[in-house]
Amino acid sequence: MAKRTINSKLFGEAQKYFVGGVNSPVRAFNYVGGDPLIIKKGHGSKVYDYDGNKYIDYVLSWGSLILGHAFPEVVDAVKVAAGDGLSFGTTNIKEVELAKLIRKAIPFVEKIRFVNSGTEAMMGAVRLARGYTGRDKIVKFENAYHGHADYLLTKSGSGLATLGIPSSAGVPKDFAKHTIITPANNINAIETVFKRYGRKIAAVLVEPVGGNYGVLPPDIKFLKRLRTLTVEYGALLIFDEVITGFRFSFGTFAQNIGVTPDLIILGKIIGGGLPIGAYGGGIRVMDKLAPLGKVYQASTFSGNPVVMQAGITTLKVLASSRAKYKQLERFAEFLSSAIEKAARSRNIDLKVCRFGSMFSMKFEKNDNFKKFYKDILHVGVYFAPSEYEVNFLSFAHSKKDIENTVRAIKLVLHKIN
Ligand code: PMP
Repeated sequence: MAKRTINSKLFGEAQKYFVGGVNSPVRAFNYVGGDPLIIKKGHGSKVYDYDGNKYIDYVLSWGSLILGHAFPEVVDAVKVAAGDGLSFGTTNIKEVELAKLIRKAIPFVEKIRFVNSGTEAMMGAVRLARGYTGRDKIVKFENAYHGHADYLLTKSGSGLATLGIPSSAGVPKDFAKHTIITPANNINAIETVFKRYGRKIAAVLVEPVGGNYGVLPPDIKFLKRLRTLTVEYGALLIFDEVITGFRFSFGTFAQNIGVTPDLIILGKIIGGGLPIGAYGGGIRVMDKLAPLGKVYQASTFSGNPVVMQAGITTLKVLASSRAKYKQLERFAEFLSSAIEKAARSRNIDLKVCRFGSMFSMKFEKNDNFKKFYKDILHVGVYFAPSEYEVNFLSFAHSKKDIENTVRAIKLVLHKIN
């Protein structure tokens, strides 16, 4: 592989304009050291830098690109949509089409509100839950990440975990005083919270499969208990499926386990690579939103026609290739066990945590991740630059990609000890 000299120069330029050279802290390489990858283009399962290097990509725009980069049908449809106007700020028929596809896949989403990011969706949903219940408190689990709203940045995963920021500066204590934080998957702890605050709790927020502190596999018993507890106390249950929506099947993880939350948060995959977020649920709750109800939430660009088109085409392709989800999982399973096997044979304590087509890697010795990361990037595999972020597979990843990745990993682990 060529050296990343042009990359370094470009990153130097970026640092002149952006704090740490990035527009989102998860993109920084603080955790692993070195310069972040500056990507020139992506096709299928690969991304390319400006030095002419090619990488097998397991970041996939943080889980958004389930079809891989620049999927031809999506790109073509987006071009046509763009030619008809970039933004109207009115209801457009593409919004209806995407909503229809989502409701067909997730029938309990009777009504939906499109916004521009997962953060925005969660902020809207929390306000709606508070408006609907007339209560203030919300429950969030340790190490979960639901976006960067003030009241959600304590003991969070994702970039805060990576950068060692236990809770963000700049958040007045008063703004977070209604957020109750409790350990994930601990039934006793959540029951105690409800015993103490039950009738004051507006909503419980949960990532049903944790994806922001490495992969945290679901605890179905726990999720079912959340449902019964919230019903018992009249609180809403909000499933944050920004990562998991359409990731394991054509729909949500909630449906796979037979739990119906009151509100669902979507993002990433439903935008086909363009900025999106959405929250939805039953009419009873959703109709409390303005203009019908008194809970206000607005946005200039929500339901943008080009974004909607990327989502529509992506979901249509996914709907017609449902069987491929199984293959995605098989590849992820093969890759995860090959990584662990390679590590074991070299006596390296590396654990791969996987659920479906998402996985994260954790070395016993933290320094090993840094060494591993630098070397694996150098041989053309782009993983998330933190043990807390998760990696994904896309429909574009081939058997050959997986085999090449395993070969690269063996080579790199060989150098670790
Ligand atoms: N919820 C979850 C579970 C997420 O993983 C993320 C971002 N990775 C968000 C919410 C926030 O989404 P966004 O970055 O689009 O604001």
